[in-house]
Amino acid sequence: MKKTHSLVTRLQHLGTMPCDADNPVASVATPSMRTSTVRFHSLDQLDHTESLRAQGERAMSYGRMGLQTHADLEQIFVALENGDRCFLASSGVAAISMTLLSLLSQGDHMVCTDNVYGPVRSLDETILQRMGIRTTYVGGHDYAAIEAAITPNTKILYAESPGSLLLEMLDFRALSEIVEKHHLIFVVDNTWGSGLIYSPLDLGADISIIAGTKYVGGHSDLMLGAVVVKGAELGARIDKNQYALGYSISADDAWLAIRGVRTMPIRMKQHAENALQVCEFLASLDATVAIYHPAYAGDKHHDLWQRDCKGSNGLLSVAFKGSREQTRAFVDALEVFYIGYSWGGFESLVQWVRPQGLVHHSYASDELRSGEHQLIRLHVGLEDVNDLIADLQQAYEKAFSA
Ligand SMILES: *Cc1c(COP(=O)(O)O)cnc(C)c1O
Repeated sequence: MKKTHSLVTRLQHLGTMPCDADNPVASVATPSMRTSTVRFHSLDQLDHTESLRAQGERAMSYGRMGLQTHADLEQIFVALENGDRCFLASSGVAAISMTLLSLLSQGDHMVCTDNVYGPVRSLDETILQRMGIRTTYVGGHDYAAIEAAITPNTKILYAESPGSLLLEMLDFRALSEIVEKHHLIFVVDNTWGSGLIYSPLDLGADISIIAGTKYVGGHSDLMLGAVVVKGAELGARIDKNQYALGYSISADDAWLAIRGVRTMPIRMKQHAENALQVCEFLASLDATVAIYHPAYAGDKHHDLWQRDCKGSNGLLSVAFKGSREQTRAFVDALEVFYIGYSWGGFESLVQWVRPQGLVHHSYASDELRSGEHQLIRLHVGLEDVNDLIADLQQAYEKAFSA
């Protein structure tokens, strides 16, 4: 597979079986290679494999590290993110914990943007603090505050863009300048972009984490995380720690993710197109006070999106001026949108983000934090967009026009 081929082409051809003189007829799809261990035909072969592993190569010696199905999926993530190496974990949160546990030690400090995915704070409060690792949360656009938070013990700047509640884009180029100046490691959560529509490693990040649970899987049927790393030194550190910590995924989940990623380019386009139409509809409603979707021209960071992104997806939030009762009635009245967490699957989902979920979020308006405005997050799925808009319309009439 030539690197000059477009990413979309490579996503179709990576992870297919070799077909050459030794294998003149081959299956297209790599099968799910379920196994807990491998066998060696001689001790020489075992020694050879172990020496390759000692040099940091991906040689297969035991089931926990995965066989070809895993290796193919790793190559796909490396292509998606334009990175050097990929390490798989059993969920997005596991990928985050594997990264932070690999890179932080007792006494270290991390600066974290205050819009990060909620469970990052749980990881901090439950485990990192207990290990003597401190975290400071700062607004992702407040560069003076970020610089002020950095201490001699700071090792990592951790950021998420766009955030998964208010979809605010951060300026990774500006953040990477701070990272360089202070010799930090720049770790980002790129689940929103999933490598396809946003490339943080090209904008200065060192490590990009994707919850493959979302758009890569795309069918709401698997949990998966990936850590994609730039540079041999960081790669070797994560490799050693992944082995020591025992993170591993099933071959069936790797197989499902490979199957899912083939259609991610066309799915993402359709999600994005539907979401923009939903934004237009929401903008026409009297109760709407703000729309959060970086590809929408009315979004505050639309310029940054235009500069840094190659596309968009189905995730958006809307702030309504209305009571808690009206908002509850609106969400309960939706029929095509399912009530549920998560996003990135084929189905449309709705979530009412309560004020307590936004108290730490510097980008949230005072009205959202006080509960005067209500935040609804939508994942716009692959249903017919006219049905989605009609569903929103009927629920809105029931809840807000009464
Ligand atoms: C869902 C999500 C995760 C975590 O993924 P899981 O597979 O559910 O653990 C991490 N970051 C973001 C932005 C997410 O939306």
